[in-house]
Amino acid sequence: MNADMRSKRKALGQHFLHDQNIVRKMIAVAQIQPGETVVEIGPGRGVLTRALSEMGSTVYAIELDHRLHENLKKQFADSPQVRIIQADALTYPFEGLPTPFAVVANLPYSISTPLLFRLLELRSRVSRMILMLQLEVARRITALPGTKDYSPLSIGAQFYAEPRLEFIVPRGCFRPPPRVDSAVLSLQVCPSSRVVVKDEAFFFRVVRAGFAHRRKSLRNALKDASFPNDAVERALTAASITAENPQRRAETLSIKDFARLADKLFEIPSQI
Ligand code: SAM
Repeated sequence: MNADMRSKRKALGQHFLHDQNIVRKMIAVAQIQPGETVVEIGPGRGVLTRALSEMGSTVYAIELDHRLHENLKKQFADSPQVRIIQADALTYPFEGLPTPFAVVANLPYSISTPLLFRLLELRSRVSRMILMLQLEVARRITALPGTKDYSPLSIGAQFYAEPRLEFIVPRGCFRPPPRVDSAVLSLQVCPSSRVVVKDEAFFFRVVRAGFAHRRKSLRNALKDASFPNDAVERALTAASITAENPQRRAETLSIKDFARLADKLFEIPSQI
């Protein structure tokens, strides 16, 4: 393989699963029903695609790499229930696919977070997701308040879905092996958010501001993010966030605590 191919392979996160046991475990978690529509992102050499089609599902497999796309078309030429699509999953119009669909995929690492949020935007169409991604990212997505992995990513994912870390996949299960381990995550997608807030964009602004300086108190982090001092003080008191500990940090707040705080800040007229 020449240097060009190696760098392209790296950019596209081309680490192919060769352990059939992991494929079987992933399919078992996915509980695919015959006739179900499944979207696979990054089918690569088709190992998961084959297993999904054997469960009787209709598979829409979206692969960016032209060479892999051509090979997949040949490989599945006699399988009308497998549709091989050459496209970038980040911009692909999923809205045109039959609904609801499940997403089962071993995601390219470099785009796993934006892809996850793109799929969460489509939540009214997606029944569930079974995703393989970097272990570290899977831990952050499933992290609970008060732990070191709890972050805006945890809150963003848990706002719209119930994520669960199903099992860890050691790097040796791939060819070539990546530098880190992976994990399979299942996400039961909720059609509406799991927590109701007055304004979702504002809620996420408060979350991001709270975590922007992890070593600062929540109070100071919000003030640094140019929420007016007076509004921050009034909202923290009204939402009973800092009654016991004025130095409380963002990582100790549950999603419901953030929702209460964001709603109070949102109500205070001078806040923008
Ligand atoms: N599913 C295969 C497996 O488990 O062996 C391959 C997984 S590999 C980690 C990721 C795959 O995603 C590669 O085939 C890569 O070419 C493809 N890919 C990378 N970026 C993509 C994108 N933006 N849209 C669609 N596919 C992409």
